[in-house]
Amino acid sequence: MQHHLLDPSAPLLSRLAELGQPAWRAKAVRRWLYGSRASSFADMTDLPKTLREALEAEFTLWTTTIATHSRAEDGTEKLLLELHDRQRIECVMLRDGERRTVCISSQVGCAMGCVFCASGIDGVVRNLTTGEILEQLLRLARLLPATERISHIVVMGMGEPLANLDRLLPALAVAQDPEGMGISQRRITISTVGLPAGMERLVEENPGYHLAVSLHAAGDDLRTKLVPVNKSIGLAAVMDAADRYWEASGRRLTFEYVLLGGVNDSPLHARELVRLIGGRAALVNIIPYNSVAGLPWREPSQGSRERFLDVLREAGVNVQVRRRKGARIDAACGQLRRIAAGTKPSPAGDEASDQAATGSIDSPMAIEPLAPGGAP
Ligand code: SAH
Repeated sequence: MQHHLLDPSAPLLSRLAELGQPAWRAKAVRRWLYGSRASSFADMTDLPKTLREALEAEFTLWTTTIATHSRAEDGTEKLLLELHDRQRIECVMLRDGERRTVCISSQVGCAMGCVFCASGIDGVVRNLTTGEILEQLLRLARLLPATERISHIVVMGMGEPLANLDRLLPALAVAQDPEGMGISQRRITISTVGLPAGMERLVEENPGYHLAVSLHAAGDDLRTKLVPVNKSIGLAAVMDAADRYWEASGRRLTFEYVLLGGVNDSPLHARELVRLIGGRAALVNIIPYNSVAGLPWREPSQGSRERFLDVLREAGVNVQVRRRKGARIDAACGQLRRIAAGTKPSPAGDEASDQAATGSIDSPMAIEPLAPGGAP
């Protein structure tokens, strides 16, 4: 079997040595892949031709195929990638002014069980490898013209990143390599359901990333209903770990809060959230809910959303509403994978997302499938 070139365990250096090649060739290969977006060894024109052929026979660059490529009118593009074992994951390119933000997955499925989220409905299947995480970045980078580069990474796709740090951190290290993608750590956000052990590990090893902690409720009873993993953790431990991360990183923390109509969106909930945030120098990111086919949760009415935001703003909380992007291509991660696997979107779900798209900052978007079943 061929080695995945993007996996740190791929024996590129030892093969180069066996072939009598200098070690710096490995660096040249990386530069080609991450800096110059080569798609095969054949593109690496400054490597000797015989070497290119030898490497081509033993290392594969692409282990995924593009099952679906959709594009929304606002420039959001989403790839559904099929992995070597036929599992599917999603990753997204978001365009906003000069920003080119990619949203990547860390696992196939998710074990956290958040009741409103599409990714965890069927539990977790497996961790992604470092190579599979990097392959998402390479695939997405290749959607951009040569004059543009990925500027930001958010690990907010499928899966719980802190449950797969062993494979995620090496991939993010490669993304930062100045000779490759050169994405500064400050522009990389890891979003977590709030696993204190993982947060602690980041404090110890690498507190330079921007951390976003998904709260969704400011009291333990409701949070445990929405985010079942909270049962054995509790908000106090999540907030403690967040504070330690903040002390270690000096970066502003972000707390995410998905607003679910009639569930966690009353002024009372907002006041509870104000109390929980207290005097922390934090940003609260309010996420409009993206309806998921087959799930009963709905986006809140505009009125309750405004009232919720008013309470936060009046209390001096730094709050931001996440702009809806790519709603019509089901860019909320985990959704496309399910639809592709045969779950039909419910009519109610369609209506809700139509309303949401019209009522949000971005215009409604059209789905434009590209290259279905496309080759690498
Ligand atoms: N496991 C990580 C990453 C999940 S995705 C975490 O929990 O943070 C990033 C954010 O999107 C999380 O806050 C998640 O709760 C939220 N989310 C999941 N499904 C959503 C949906 N259908 N609509 C809006 N936000 C959703």
